[in-house]
Amino acid sequence: MPSDRERLEQELRTKAEAAIRKLLDALPDKAEITLSDMETLTGEMGDELMQGTMQSLSESQQAAPNEVRCEQCNRPMHKRGKRKKQVVTLRGEVEVERQYYVCPCCGAGTFPPG
Ligand SMILES: [Zn+2]
Repeated sequence: MPSDRERLEQELRTKAEAAIRKLLDALPDKAEITLSDMETLTGEMGDELMQGTMQSLSESQQAAPNEVRCEQCNRPMHKRGKRKKQVVTLRGEVEVERQYYVCPCCGAGTFPPG
């Protein structure tokens, strides 16, 4: 049985390999490529890697809080499955899946911090 770390490493490696292959596929012919092309392609590969890594890490490393309480009613909130959340990073916005909570009393929804 692979450990969590091994599973995560494999997942990240697969994403990195896919990003590298995409870069190589998009690489223009040697005679035509410019530094500007290289900069664009490298930036795209970097963005894809960052996005994939953020998704993997945020999904595998998220600790489940013991209890999430509604800010309005102070009642314990219920898990409502995972939802996509936009996270602002230094290199732009990334979409990750996080556990979403809903208040059974007033219906307010929230992502716990962290
Ligand atoms: Zn509430």
